[in-house]
Amino acid sequence: MTPSTPTAAVVIGAGISGLTTGVVLAEADVKVRIISASRPDQTDSAKAGASWGPYMVSHDRVTAWSAETYKELEKIAGHRGSGIRLLPGVEAFTEDGYRAWSSRTAVPPAWATQIPSFEERRRGGDERGLPRGYFYGWHYTIPIVNMPAYLEYLTHRFKAAGGDLITGSAVESFDGARELAGFSDREAVVVNCSGLGSYELVPDSTMAPTMGQLVIVRNPGIGEFFQDNPVPGELESTHIFPQGDIVVIGGCDRLFQPGDPWIAAEPDPLIRKRILERAEAIRPELRGVEVLAERVGLRPVRTDQVRVEWDRRRSLRLIHNYGHGGAGVTLSWGCALKVGRLFGVLSPSDESEAVGMPTLGGVLAG
Ligand SMILES: Cc1cc2nc3c(=O)[nH]c(=O)nc-3n(C[C@H](O)[C@H](O)[C@H](O)COP(=O)(O)OP(=O)(O)OC[C@H]3O[C@@H](n4cnc5c(N)ncnc54)[C@H](O)[C@@H]3O)c2cc1C
Repeated sequence: MTPSTPTAAVVIGAGISGLTTGVVLAEADVKVRIISASRPDQTDSAKAGASWGPYMVSHDRVTAWSAETYKELEKIAGHRGSGIRLLPGVEAFTEDGYRAWSSRTAVPPAWATQIPSFEERRRGGDERGLPRGYFYGWHYTIPIVNMPAYLEYLTHRFKAAGGDLITGSAVESFDGARELAGFSDREAVVVNCSGLGSYELVPDSTMAPTMGQLVIVRNPGIGEFFQDNPVPGELESTHIFPQGDIVVIGGCDRLFQPGDPWIAAEPDPLIRKRILERAEAIRPELRGVEVLAERVGLRPVRTDQVRVEWDRRRSLRLIHNYGHGGAGVTLSWGCALKVGRLFGVLSPSDESEAVGMPTLGGVLAG
């Protein structure tokens, strides 16, 4: 820290972005207060699947931020009860999906090939683990995250580093957040991690959420994950994420029509049926398993790109970290470390080089 480095931060939001940012700053000896309308377990972050891998997000640092997150999650996976598992599995494309994506971006993408365990799969070549109906893919080991458990882990870690968490307080302005935290203008920086809340708070009219639905079932003994990438524009996909005793199965992107309220709807029974049918076709042992719960949540998609930067047009010191789309888990540490660098508590030279790949799903988001 230099003498001009701020000493306190008010972080708005207790989803994965706010909590991870809170941990980075508090562990660098910044006095941090998180203010959030909802508890961590009530956020959209708690609804995610979740697997590492950028989806529905764009920024020229996506690959670098994803890699930084991978490294941190790999370390945390060693902590019992953290909710992080490093699991092997397959990511696959149908022939149509492969051709459509290949005409738009590099397949396989750089964020996947940088993983040391990455191995290609191809119909007619090495087909191991490629389910029937799929043409191309890869096998690798990635973090699979049990979100409720991981958010609890982050909350404990944040508090252990001296951070304060205030929930049940919706703020109407950035000044209001700083006042609520009880910090003076001179000492504190406000960090906006309000996800979709940024639509009104910033205000940012480029926010355009999609709704995701997941089914949680009892695990019949599945140890590897599976996920596919349907043709661009197709709103339903298949992912199977084993997490100990349960398997989290998805998924879909339900779009909002103009005028629709941005709230998580009740689970759609037809979507549930299709999610289960697709998963059973890939993993027949899922047939007839007990459904334990369902989750519906919103992805805070920003049609421009994820926003992690100083907002210099304000009278107070404000850093944004929002708009992570379908990749808030994947980008969480990369973006939080970036906030630490902007803040001045981490050295800018820590930042690895950008590769600048567009991501699968980015076209849909844009
Ligand atoms: C079904 C589903 C599956 C997903 N799967 C994956 C996956 O596999 N991998 C992946 O990387 N990502 C996945 N995502 C996306 C990921 O969950 C999001 O990108 C991420 O959770 C966004 O986190 P966040 O902290 O920015 O926002 P949120 O979790 O929405 O948190 C926002 C916080 O801000 C607070 N807030 C908002 N407005 C205000 C205000 N005015 N005053 C005070 N507080 C406020 C809220 O209360 C909340 O605490 C998935 C999402 C869904 C819905």
